Amino acid sequence: MAVSGWFGRKRKDGSPAEGVPDGIAVKCSSCSQILFVRDFERNQKVCTKCGHHHRLNAHERLEITVDEDSFEEIDAVLQSADPLLFPEYREKLHKAKNTSTSSEAVITGTATVEGFPVVIGIADFTFMGGSMGSVVGEKIARAIEVGIEKRFPVIMFTASGGARMQEGLLSLMQMAKTSAAVGRLGTNGIPFIVVLTDPTTGGTYASYSCLGDVILAEPGAIIGFAGRRVGNQEVGVKLPDNFQTSEFQLEHGMIDRIVPRKDLPLALKTLLEFFALSAVKESVIAGN
Ligand SMILES: [Zn+2]
Repeated sequence: MAVSGWFGRKRKDGSPAEGVPDGIAVKCSSCSQILFVRDFERNQKVCTKCGHHHRLNAHERLEITVDEDSFEEIDAVLQSADPLLFPEYREKLHKAKNTSTSSEAVITGTATVEGFPVVIGIADFTFMGGSMGSVVGEKIARAIEVGIEKRFPVIMFTASGGARMQEGLLSLMQMAKTSAAVGRLGTNGIPFIVVLTDPTTGGTYASYSCLGDVILAEPGAIIGFAGRRVGNQEVGVKLPDNFQTSEFQLEHGMIDRIVPRKDLPLALKTLLEFFALSAVKESVIAGN
């Protein structure tokens, strides 16, 4: 399993990885502890003092999730258009392509995870806040179709502020499109595993993210349709401090389990083993 490599090295343009200042130390955004960059990256950007899980970009996530050299990206060439001629959208897209490690807010492809073939999608919050526009929805729907065709389980790592407002209704349509695609997965008996990471909100939360056969989440992630601030304003009462976090969602039966980042490979392996065995069992019962 490829855990090392990306961590500790800089981006191709020479800038440091996201969230890490160009130096030897970084401050935890939760407890303010000063951490050596080397230790911080070795610990997969989890604070060694308080355990806060800092955000990963899609390529960092990919590197700690899939088996080495197993990832084959699909639909890498799909690029967002500007269908509504929304002011400054093209400039924002151009900037995002230059500052993010991804060419859109999700990367998708086939890979093996702990030896099991899967289709995997990883949202990239560094690209316009992981917002779901037409291309993001299309890439997720197409990835799911590949899962159905190859009969591979589909794993989605989410990280998104919601629908992409610059595409208006077209981005809201992606909620229905991705949800319908997940429905086809279910009809075809293909497992769908979702891992919610910080943050997963808005239209992304209210569509495919909530439809996993198994829904895992990283500790302390903001998860919900609207955040606590919006909730406070709308409801008019002070909401609990942990409102719309992984812990709150687990407490209220919305997710299945909170899994620390270092334990995710084992959790995924366990699930993939279970689904593989179930498929064999069903095949035997069906007499195939
Ligand atoms: Zn900390």
